[in-house]
Amino acid sequence: YNVEYAPFKDENNEIRGLVLVMKDVTKQQKLENMRREFVANVSHELKTPLTSIKSYTETLLDGMLEDRAISEQFLKVINNESDRMTRLVRDLLQLSNFDNNKIKLNMTRNDLVKLIKQTVMKLDITANNKKQRLKFSPNCEELFAYFDFDRIEQVLLNIVTNAIKYTEDSGEISIDIQTQENEALITVKDTGMGIPEEDLLRIFERFYRVDKARSRELGGTGLGLSIAKEIIDAHNGSIEIFSKVNEGTEVKIRIPIEERTV
Ligand code: ADP
Repeated sequence: YNVEYAPFKDENNEIRGLVLVMKDVTKQQKLENMRREFVANVSHELKTPLTSIKSYTETLLDGMLEDRAISEQFLKVINNESDRMTRLVRDLLQLSNFDNNKIKLNMTRNDLVKLIKQTVMKLDITANNKKQRLKFSPNCEELFAYFDFDRIEQVLLNIVTNAIKYTEDSGEISIDIQTQENEALITVKDTGMGIPEEDLLRIFERFYRVDKARSRELGGTGLGLSIAKEIIDAHNGSIEIFSKVNEGTEVKIRIPIEERTV
């Protein structure tokens, strides 16, 4: 508790009592801890690619440049690591814009079925490379709702990319859409490695990953799900994850269909 006090005086300026203000700072303390953890995470995430870029560059400058094959291999690593840093900074900026309420949604009436088809087309090659089946056979031809097309596309790309990334070769990813009351419900289901129960509670936290090394190896920033949640929340929708280890994961996204001012 944080305690402040001030004397309480009467008209003759005599002290008649004390006003005590006790503030519960557990919440404040928690926020402060979260902020610190976040800064530590950001520093670490930026340092890892930088260290690797620096050491590969140094080795090249130390004479490895003579070897063309090795040079090429090293430059590829440097290039990949720079790309990852770019993604990380881009994601951080987006989250910071959400934090500062700087994100304005461009709400238009649009077809969710069309959007999913477009997403499936964009990711088909990635899934094919892993011999996975990416299924989308909607019951309806179209489903119109008010949403920010680019941002919801970003969410879907992220969720389906995760499904592909965390599912072994020849697995199956199926997407479904339906109307439920006055919401559109999009389901993305995979037959992948799943998420342990104890991690599910924290999975939307920034930088939270089940397996850090694996996520990095797959090029992830650990920010995708937290951004997805910010975007869906801004639409007054909801996003939930259900999962069973070694069986698969199911992501449910709900978006209001009717026009409203968000
Ligand atoms: P990342 O960049 O690490 O993929 P995300 O925020 O998108 O970051 O996801 C956070 C973590 O959630 C991932 O590192 C992974 O451990 C877990 N995860 C997300 N989607 C799935 C999925 N479909 N199957 C299994 N694990 C998943």
